[in-house]
Amino acid sequence: MSLVLHNSLTGKKEPFTPQDPNHVTMYVCGPTVYNYIHIGNGRSALVYDLLYRTLSLLYPKVSYARNFTDVDDKINTAASEQGVDISVITDKYIQAYDDDMAKLGNLEPTHAPKATGHIEPIIATIEKLIERGHAYASDGHALFSVDSMPDYGKLSKRNTEDMIAGARVEVASYKKNPMDFVLWKPSNEDQPGWESPWGRGRPGWHIECTAMIQALFGDTIDIHGGGTDLLFPHHENELAQGVCCTDESHGYAKYWVHNAMLDIEGEKMSKSLGNFIVLRDMLAEQPPELVRLALLSAHYRSNMNWSAQLLHQSKLLLDRLYTIKRDAANIEAVAPSNLNDLPAISALLDDLNTPKVIASLHDLTNRFFKTEDELEKAELKGEIFAITDFLNIGQLSATDWFQGDAADGMPAEEIEALIAQRVEAKKAKDFARADAIRDELASAGIQIKDTREGTQWVREA
Ligand SMILES: [Zn+2]
Repeated sequence: MSLVLHNSLTGKKEPFTPQDPNHVTMYVCGPTVYNYIHIGNGRSALVYDLLYRTLSLLYPKVSYARNFTDVDDKINTAASEQGVDISVITDKYIQAYDDDMAKLGNLEPTHAPKATGHIEPIIATIEKLIERGHAYASDGHALFSVDSMPDYGKLSKRNTEDMIAGARVEVASYKKNPMDFVLWKPSNEDQPGWESPWGRGRPGWHIECTAMIQALFGDTIDIHGGGTDLLFPHHENELAQGVCCTDESHGYAKYWVHNAMLDIEGEKMSKSLGNFIVLRDMLAEQPPELVRLALLSAHYRSNMNWSAQLLHQSKLLLDRLYTIKRDAANIEAVAPSNLNDLPAISALLDDLNTPKVIASLHDLTNRFFKTEDELEKAELKGEIFAITDFLNIGQLSATDWFQGDAADGMPAEEIEALIAQRVEAKKAKDFARADAIRDELASAGIQIKDTREGTQWVREA
């Protein structure tokens, strides 16, 4: 069994061949830590968690690094607004990020480097770029010279005009070419800064990833990941730095993997539209496993539409899994002899085809409910829970799932029964009764919503 991955560099799906079959290396751009992350960031982190788990099935050692950008103008602004050191802001949001990841069920990466912990390698990488004629110092800055790299733009496949528009290029007196990007910039007294050959200052954003990759893994990694929003300018610039600071033939990263974005109910998520979802709020409102399964439902290269309907569908599948757990506790699962032979795992190995994995779980649970054959049930149970264990869902007890976190709240069965009574009351045009049931549920902290797919309910957080 081998993995096939879509490589943004070639625009094709390719068989994955690591440089060293005994040690696979992967780097993913992590958060800039000045606020809580949104649900789209959660999706991205989950995509690479799944890729990490999949690689770990196939290779004896996988090193996965995900950085924290902990020096940045947005952080500086937040710190100066609150009158605190940047570390007060970054420590808080690094902790929050780690908590969110744990709640979402993601594994910890092997390495979680911080930019501020790598100032020396960052300076050394910039010096190498200058020595090799790919960068220059100017007016307290160090800048990458885009003209020094003939195939600049090869990753994002943009022409110069698109790149100028995409990078919101700033024409500045200290730049030779407006497209040249900052490797190091000067800090004033109030801004965080480090001594460097170009004066006291701080690194630009792109250079930290290149320097940390080299510090952790050397000149070339197997997989570089991130959202499609990072393709340009961030990844294009990382690639330029990585290729130009050493032997230009090595390539920096063999496979570039990019996950698509997340929309909310068919609209782009934005603070101005008022549909911005903070991941930790969603994880508090819904069972984290439900959020995890829903985020896995779209293929990582497709835009995902986050909706009440998606949550509802995902909940139905989890309800089926926990029904099996509850009602078939006496059936001893027969574990599959080899996980990699399962159709669901083959689907994962084909460029992480999660919609197919979820379809497979639906199919297996259907078959489980249909068959009367005890041995078949035992095998299906084994297969279903081997897949859910791999995905890190279905990990609660059936009691915990059906009764939710609100141990002292109204039991799920009772809620469902009241909802059914309300449907009947509405059919009989007894609207007073229907409203009374709604009020009874509301006073028990249960919100209901009528949709085309039926009545959905949530416990108030
Ligand atoms: Zn990066």
